[in-house]
Amino acid sequence: MKITCKCGGAVSDNAPASKASYIKSLNVDKFWERIDDAIENSGPSSKEKEAACMNLRRINFFNFMLQCSKCKRLIFYGKDPDVYFFKPEADAQQSNLFYG
Ligand SMILES: [Zn+2]
Repeated sequence: MKITCKCGGAVSDNAPASKASYIKSLNVDKFWERIDDAIENSGPSSKEKEAACMNLRRINFFNFMLQCSKCKRLIFYGKDPDVYFFKPEADAQQSNLFYG
């Protein structure tokens, strides 16, 4: 999917170089608790371990942000359909935050 930035640039949410994942601080403890639980209580078989991993992946702890390659704005998705744009200070307008 592509989103149109305030500058008119097209930003793809499928391009790893323009995208980063993050987790809200409020969810960090829950995230680690679920990982601990998957490791400690998944059961001995590889099938049980795989099921625990898949259950963990189904929980959507992560949000993502995009960066426009043209103007370097950061783009955050809020509750659907809200989208927020943050324009960098002038001295940060050359930064590619998610590369390398
Ligand atoms: Zn832009």
